[in-house]
Amino acid sequence: MVIILRPDVTPDQRHAVEARLRDCGFQVVFSPNGTQVTMAAVGEGTMPGMEDMLRMPGVADVRRIPAPFKLASRIFREDSSVIRIGDVEIGGKSIVLMAGPCTIESEEQLVRTGAAVYAAGARIMRGGAFKPRTSPYSFQGLGEEGLKLMRRVADAQGLLVISEVMDKSQIALMDRYVDIFQVGARNMQNYPLLRELGSVERPVLVKRGLAATVDEWLMSAEYVMSGGNDRVMVCERGIRAYETYTRNTLDLNAVAVAKSLSHLPVIVDPSHAAGIRDKVPPLARAAIAAGADGLLVEVHYDPERAICDGPQSLFPEQFQELTGQIRMIAEAVGRTL
Ligand code: PEP
Ligand code: MN
Repeated sequence: MVIILRPDVTPDQRHAVEARLRDCGFQVVFSPNGTQVTMAAVGEGTMPGMEDMLRMPGVADVRRIPAPFKLASRIFREDSSVIRIGDVEIGGKSIVLMAGPCTIESEEQLVRTGAAVYAAGARIMRGGAFKPRTSPYSFQGLGEEGLKLMRRVADAQGLLVISEVMDKSQIALMDRYVDIFQVGARNMQNYPLLRELGSVERPVLVKRGLAATVDEWLMSAEYVMSGGNDRVMVCERGIRAYETYTRNTLDLNAVAVAKSLSHLPVIVDPSHAAGIRDKVPPLARAAIAAGADGLLVEVHYDPERAICDGPQSLFPEQFQELTGQIRMIAEAVGRTL
């Protein structure tokens, strides 16, 4: 249940509404909503009558949230959430580009790739230090050494850093080096990890699981939010379907659906969706046209020699060309880059 308070609500009236919801067994979460304040009753309580709540002084409106996610719902927060990190805004008018290698390999790789993605308009650098590989014999990432390198290179270039956290034991270490925690597709339902990320200060990007429904995906975002961290964005990265030509199938429906059900920024990763380099730009263009707030793209200065995901990594020139196209599409849909 969501309670919208009147703009002229007094502190006493507000406390009375809050106390009523707590007496019913709910936790109460507040959100500013334009000039009004919205209150959500979450948890396992006994729902009070809508009419009773509406009659309480200071209450402007009462709505039920039929979806299982509450804090992530657009009924709780009508305005789209904007996540600010330094001078970068995610979910605002401007499209955000996050780009870089699949995995951190070396200083040279980061310097050359970082300079190229920055010049093309990216403001956030991606790169994994802990890699969820299908085979236990594949390269598993450089760990802390890699994070240190990426932080140094990104700072010198003026980029922010996003990197995947695979386990809650890595959070404290990663917190020293990253600006955004990425939860990978395979970990979308790692609930202890999501809960722990609820108490970090930094924003969290939650990728959609390989076979997760939109509700399940948004419930994972809700896990993080329910712990008190409301700086959450979600990322569509392709789902398992019967088609095998591409690595996964980019679900653009999910972008449009998530944008209408939720106020959270929606990012699209066309690289893991396509798995094929020259199929990445068309998916990226379509994602922005469909309303995505940003892109997470794999770019490598020498993709043919990449340790991981080379076949889907763009050459710097391709990324540069793509961002020029994204700029035009962004304008056509009322956004900027
Ligand atoms: C990645 O972004 O490097 C990655 C492993 O992606 P996903 O979790 O979507 O497979
Ligand atoms: Mn990858």
